[in-house]
Amino acid sequence: MTGPFGMKGKRTVLNPANWQVFKDPEGSMQLIRRLVMENARQFVSRYVLAFLCMALVAASTAASAWIMKDIINQVFINRNEFMIYVIAGLVMVIFTIKGAATYGQMVILSRIGNSIVAGCQRRMFQRITEQDLSYFDRTPAGELTARVQHNTKAARSVLEMLVVSVGRDVLTIIGLVGVMIGQNPTMSAFALLIMPPAVLGVSVLVRRVRKHAKSQFVSTARILGTLQETTIGIRVVKAFGMEDHVRAAMNEAISAVEHRANKIASLTARTSPLMETLGGFAIAIVILYGGYSVVNLDQDPGAFFSFITALLLAYEPAKRLARLHVNLNNNLVGVRLMYELIDDVPELTDRPGAAELVVKGGEIRFDDVRFSYGESAALNGLTMVAEPGRTTALVGASGAGKSTVFSLIERFYEPDDGDILIDGQNTKDVTIASLRGHIAVVTQDTFLFDMSIRDNIALGRPGASDAEIEQAARDANAHDFIMDIPGGYDALAGEGGGRLSGGQRQRVAIARAMLRDAPILLLDEATSALDAESETKVQAALARLMKGRTTLVIAHRLATVRHADAIHVLDRGRLVESGTHDSLYAEDGIYRRLCELQFQDGSSKADEAEESIAVGNTAAV
Ligand code: ADP
Repeated sequence: MTGPFGMKGKRTVLNPANWQVFKDPEGSMQLIRRLVMENARQFVSRYVLAFLCMALVAASTAASAWIMKDIINQVFINRNEFMIYVIAGLVMVIFTIKGAATYGQMVILSRIGNSIVAGCQRRMFQRITEQDLSYFDRTPAGELTARVQHNTKAARSVLEMLVVSVGRDVLTIIGLVGVMIGQNPTMSAFALLIMPPAVLGVSVLVRRVRKHAKSQFVSTARILGTLQETTIGIRVVKAFGMEDHVRAAMNEAISAVEHRANKIASLTARTSPLMETLGGFAIAIVILYGGYSVVNLDQDPGAFFSFITALLLAYEPAKRLARLHVNLNNNLVGVRLMYELIDDVPELTDRPGAAELVVKGGEIRFDDVRFSYGESAALNGLTMVAEPGRTTALVGASGAGKSTVFSLIERFYEPDDGDILIDGQNTKDVTIASLRGHIAVVTQDTFLFDMSIRDNIALGRPGASDAEIEQAARDANAHDFIMDIPGGYDALAGEGGGRLSGGQRQRVAIARAMLRDAPILLLDEATSALDAESETKVQAALARLMKGRTTLVIAHRLATVRHADAIHVLDRGRLVESGTHDSLYAEDGIYRRLCELQFQDGSSKADEAEESIAVGNTAAV
């Protein structure tokens, strides 16, 4: 499968071969049963009420056909004046009941439908939040958005069609066929002759619609994929003048969707001429046979009229049912995709009987850990220790595996081989909640939610009091700038923390970590330049935060590595050197070269260099 930019892509959204959904195109009934069973139980009493309403609608429709017999026989043939008033009264009663029952049925069923859709959306979102990071690596955000939107819409359509149309239309047809059989069984047999060809014709259409629905979804996914890559990579697209290329890819996908949508529309519409022709045929036969019986054999004309009325009234719901089958199958593709998402069980969960992590000192030990993201290896047998209560700096070129070490400690991923131990307890065997509860993380690109600054800090320890939050902010050198913002602690941080500067965001993150008060601290130092004042404040806050905790820091500053208790140098996923700044610098190995490059410390005059680095002069490696 080729990606939207004409490149090979492994992403699920662009690779329909990965979609379970199309592997079982025949399971529609099972799918509908599941949709109804999983969601209907809690609504049983309301469903009963709705079905009572629908039964009333169907019965009043049937009664309006049945009464035709007496209108013809009593009023027109027998000329019975009293019956005129009785029948007129009855007709009023019948249609009043029908109106009220239709209202009741619509309100009840729409509410159930909406509630089921809401339930499905909650389940999808719950599942998405349960997934581990590898799921998000292979599932582009655009696909998730599309699924939650597109698929719940499909679920809503299926349920609305099913419950509103099937419930009412099927009961109505049953009632009307009852009237037809009651009035004239032989003519009913004639009329029902059209059933087999109608069913056959519709099922052919259904198969073709399914095929087109599938292609349509593939192209829709392609549109989303192209859109997503274009917006995310817009700088690259513009810098390399790829606009025309991207537009061409997009045009192709859009045309494909348009083409499929037209196909599906014409197939769906084709049920109309099919049913009109067959319906006209049935009515013609009934008129021929019934009219002949009345005219020549002196049969009851009232029964004939009642029969024809029932047949004509049955015609509309029958047409809706025929189209329903086609529409239903079109939408079931979306429902399948919804269940595919809901059924995708996360791989990384607590082992049965997982214990709570107990942290005494907070020693972190990697024992021959191997890990790869799909095919690209990130750690190749990493063995290292971070001593309890000490600061251990991780250094290494970009791609050496430093961030992967953090992700594995937090158990965002599981090692392919080897163990990670915290105070002798394997991270695999403890609950994920207790593990993450003992870890605080401060990264360079702090993400703040668009809620108040107070709430953003409180994420560190939900339930913390205002006084504790304020103390954490003071410790993080954040209190003063927060008080300067209009609204103070109640000011909104803006989407992604956009209303705060980089240095301020970092101090909010430090306050969060202060509040968490976890024994283990993972710190990814900022590479981007902060102004001198922010830098000093951030550093002072960090120093306070690191005190007495086992700290692993991805170091970008010379000051940090110089003050670290130990430095581990990583290279291509392995520990290659280990020691203190002075001992490693003297060794004249990778560390020294990194210092010279990364820390721009060409001479051994480290103290002078420290000055320039402290103001953020750290080149990206
Ligand atoms: P560092 O933090 O030292 O720069 P990382 O731990 O981020 O290194 O990366 C180690 C290796 O794993 C690199 O080769 C990188 O390309 C790869 N890698 C990192 N994250 C992912 C990911 N989410 N999916 C695929 N490969 C990744």
